Amino acid sequence: MLRRETPPAHSLRPDAIRAIGAAALAAHPREACGLAWADRIETLPNAALTDDCFRLHAGDALRLERMLRGPDPPLAVWHSHSRSSHAEGMSDLDRRCAAPRGEPLHPSLLQIVADVRTGAFAGARAFAWRGGGFAEVASFASDGAVRT
Ligand SMILES: [Zn+2]
Repeated sequence: MLRRETPPAHSLRPDAIRAIGAAALAAHPREACGLAWADRIETLPNAALTDDCFRLHAGDALRLERMLRGPDPPLAVWHSHSRSSHAEGMSDLDRRCAAPRGEPLHPSLLQIVADVRTGAFAGARAFAWRGGGFAEVASFASDGAVRT
């Protein structure tokens, strides 16, 4: 059964947010990326050729499509921003990549951006597709607690 709605960002437990932060720091200064469930994450190799963006390998993208139709679909795709010049949340490029031609590739997935621009994990922001664009729906502190 394919989920149509984006799950509430608050479904993500602090452990998952902290794990995203740790994975983002491990990859720094490259961007890290992966998938998140309520209480765990999977880090995926970043197929992007440059340090300032992320892309899933074709095989991982296919596996994601299968997972979204399976019994335990991920809640979110996450990636990190690792340079001071990067946006704190989704950049214009992120928005174009996640919704080419204005249509989201995965409307049921949250987009999480982890902030490691200073070389430390400063928290994360979650975005959901809402009425034709990505809107911020939650902000998490570095300990994984919900800020907003
Ligand atoms: Zn980004």
